[in-house]
Amino acid sequence: MTKRDYYEILGVPRNATKEEIKKAYRKLARKYHPDVNPGDKNAEEKFKEIKEAYEVLSDDNLRARYDQFGHQGVSDEGGFGGFGDFGGFGGFGESTSDFGEFGDIFDIFFGDGFGIKGQQKKGPRKGSDLRADLELTFEEAAFGVEKELRITRFEQCDVCGGTGAKPGSQPTTCSACGGTGQIRVSQRTPFGHFQSIRTCHQCGGEGTVISSPCSNCGGKGQVKKQRNIRVKVPPGVDDGTRLRISSEGDCGIYGGPPGDLYVHVHVKPHPHFKRQGYDVIYELPLSFVKAALGCEVKVPTLDGEVELKIPEGTQPDTVFRIRGKGIPRLRGGSRGDQLVRVKLFTPTNLTEEQKEILKEFESALSEFNHKVKDKGFFRRVKDAFMG
Ligand SMILES: [Zn+2]
Ligand SMILES: [Zn+2]
Repeated sequence: MTKRDYYEILGVPRNATKEEIKKAYRKLARKYHPDVNPGDKNAEEKFKEIKEAYEVLSDDNLRARYDQFGHQGVSDEGGFGGFGDFGGFGGFGESTSDFGEFGDIFDIFFGDGFGIKGQQKKGPRKGSDLRADLELTFEEAAFGVEKELRITRFEQCDVCGGTGAKPGSQPTTCSACGGTGQIRVSQRTPFGHFQSIRTCHQCGGEGTVISSPCSNCGGKGQVKKQRNIRVKVPPGVDDGTRLRISSEGDCGIYGGPPGDLYVHVHVKPHPHFKRQGYDVIYELPLSFVKAALGCEVKVPTLDGEVELKIPEGTQPDTVFRIRGKGIPRLRGGSRGDQLVRVKLFTPTNLTEEQKEILKEFESALSEFNHKVKDKGFFRRVKDAFMG
């Protein structure tokens, strides 16, 4: 293969100044750059040739060698040890300054370039997982519920079937990268021969290009859609429980599987109940009189009111357990319990009669050494406070 003369390629005379060489290169590089001529093999070859010529002629040392020995003087294969023994660091400084001034061209040329080596964009990919929030009442979380969630997700475009190409047309193999999505960039510089792999500028790494894009999805193959998703919430979920609804996320790419939908459960606070594992906590307000005398009270549970017997002399914070009235366990089986904690309160706004009785009560307590045995007295208390 015979090589063309570098001066001829750049269209400059053999005695051209550095400035003239630079100018000529700029002009030609802009004209034949692959980004300006996508898919044009001829232009691509030409651009390579121009670059090579410039790299040699813009470097004083290489240019001197070229002038003296021709192509052989500056080639890797030549008998001169390639670029290994060229003029030390003098050339280094000069070349980098040239690179600086040519920043604009190298920017275009390298694109998002160096460093994405081997990043494979092509092929089936799973769609993204989505997140949704679901607010439930205490009871809904306890016993389970079916809810409808409105979500926005990417779905395959049904006009083009996900290809992104207008119906009747097909995505074509990218001519710049031959369908690999990557381009090998070969660069000969005064420091040696560099090779790097970068994402194809023409197809963005997909390997195919769409010449007539689908008008429904704009060539993306996917469209955003709003969907109502029915979610079956099992009994026993709690605040913070995460439910996975498989395959209800964004659709896959290139035939990949869809992502999943993750539903985060939030439970609204209940006016009476708190949850502790699978048990329900209920605080029962009780006057000290009732606690002292004992009584029957109605207690709310998840299944409605139940009767609870409070024994005589019940102390503050005593906990009564009502079995099986708690939350159903998520994995099935039994239910937790309801725990009733006694909260004693002191009566306020007492009548004169009630006050008299309490005074009597207090003195009776001291008299009988904290043990009231007079049943008649209790009856009067009961009538006054609990009638
Ligand atoms: Zn489409
Ligand atoms: Zn490509």
